[in-house]
Amino acid sequence: METSKLYINGSFVPSTGTDRIDVIDSATEEVMGWIPAGTVADVDLAVKSAADAQPEWAALPQHERSRHLMALHDELSNQAEFFTTLIAREVGTPIKLGQFVQVGVAIAAIKDAVDELEAFAWETPLANSTIVREPIGVVGAITPWNYPLYQILLKIAPAMAVGCSVVLKSSEVAPLNAFVIAEAIDRVGFPPGVFNLVTGFGPVVGEALASHPLVDAISFTGSTRAGKRVMQLGAETIKRVNLELGGKSACVILDDATMTKAVSSGVNNVLLNSGQTCAAWTRMIVPRSRLAEIEGMAVEAMAKFAPGSPFADGKVIGPLVSAAQRDRVREYIKGAQDEGARLLLGGSEQPQDLESGYFVLPTIFTDVTPDMTIAREEVFGPVLSIMAVDDDDEAIALANATPYGLHGGVWSEDLERAERVARAMKTGQVDINGGRFNPLAPFGGYRQSGNGRERGHYGLEEFLEIKAIQH
Ligand code: NAD
Repeated sequence: METSKLYINGSFVPSTGTDRIDVIDSATEEVMGWIPAGTVADVDLAVKSAADAQPEWAALPQHERSRHLMALHDELSNQAEFFTTLIAREVGTPIKLGQFVQVGVAIAAIKDAVDELEAFAWETPLANSTIVREPIGVVGAITPWNYPLYQILLKIAPAMAVGCSVVLKSSEVAPLNAFVIAEAIDRVGFPPGVFNLVTGFGPVVGEALASHPLVDAISFTGSTRAGKRVMQLGAETIKRVNLELGGKSACVILDDATMTKAVSSGVNNVLLNSGQTCAAWTRMIVPRSRLAEIEGMAVEAMAKFAPGSPFADGKVIGPLVSAAQRDRVREYIKGAQDEGARLLLGGSEQPQDLESGYFVLPTIFTDVTPDMTIAREEVFGPVLSIMAVDDDDEAIALANATPYGLHGGVWSEDLERAERVARAMKTGQVDINGGRFNPLAPFGGYRQSGNGRERGHYGLEEFLEIKAIQH
């Protein structure tokens, strides 16, 4: 696998700089590879090649672009097993889980984008106007490490499918999978410049993309902190800036819910990918009258997961991605104890029997109050906060009492009651009684969880301009 060069204008080329970034295996803590730390000059070359390539790519008939994308889909599908192993090492996601959540869903996003375009209305009449949709132009895609392949494909597939060209700056923390995509794009034979990969650090490569006058839109997924910076920089050239940011989502369990199912689903949700999931239900909001019973169920459900190698069998929870992430999560755990939250399970110690790897014990706090840091900030680790309330209105107010609004869950046997709570939550998605993932439904945040929507029809709109022609 070629990871020492950037992919610009249809070729793997050395960076104009000489700095490298090591890639670390999250379970063994060993260096598993390195990538170039790209420069501002690299970004400039990539953006110019994307700008040159875009008009011709956009002029191709839709079926030609879709044909390229489906060829990419097939190439990546052939490498699904390799991706699963690679991401198990880069991110720490257990193999069995990763096959679906890291790889299967990611590759399917290409086909979803192509399918969506089959019935897409590029032109619609409106009185004496024709409303025309056109590709926005050059897209700068900036992605995080937690679901690296998914986050990349969810941006580049719809962007390229509608006729945009792309410069991708993938996460420097789990970057190797992006090179596998670049190699596959090269083999498929996309026209040079339609896809470019410049790896490196956010403050250098990411900021250069967000500032570049030839980039028409930024599609950013990552922390709210970095998203704010990208939006500020994009403002200079009035770029379209689509942001998919952090979360502090609530799982609201009402007193008439089927408790064992609700609590165990809430626990499974917060442990997904070791808690490194933007949409994780990190706050479990429960009726005070049933608090003790729910605490017991949550401990029982979480105790079934043991920290272990991503390659081990059974109900393992993998390591966190990096030493920095592990340390951050442990600080949150210590801070919660200092602020008076009651520890029910886990804690900030290194799990026994695991000498290497960035592991954090699956952890539950109860007696968490809205003013505590653990109730407000995104932890991004396997940590659940249980918060008790007296009625539905208090549950709604508490669910909405953070600056975020990405996801959520409601559990109740009374569907009208559940629906009332779901509609009152200020959040981009809500699942009632574990309603299953819908790949066509828009995914995105309210408030400081972002302003974009990915997936399905809404995901295409992020990469389109709208023109009105009057007759
Ligand atoms: P991060 O913000 O540190 O990094 C994300 C990307 O932005 C990386 O490629 C990074 O290099 C780049 N970046 C960092 N600083 C930058 C800057 N100043 N200018 C431009 N680019 C910059 O986030 P992370 O740690 O990689 O990912 C975790 C975060 O992502 C969490 O907050 C999580 O909630 C969020 N996330 C959100 C979604 C969503 O769909 N809403 C999905 C996954 C992850």
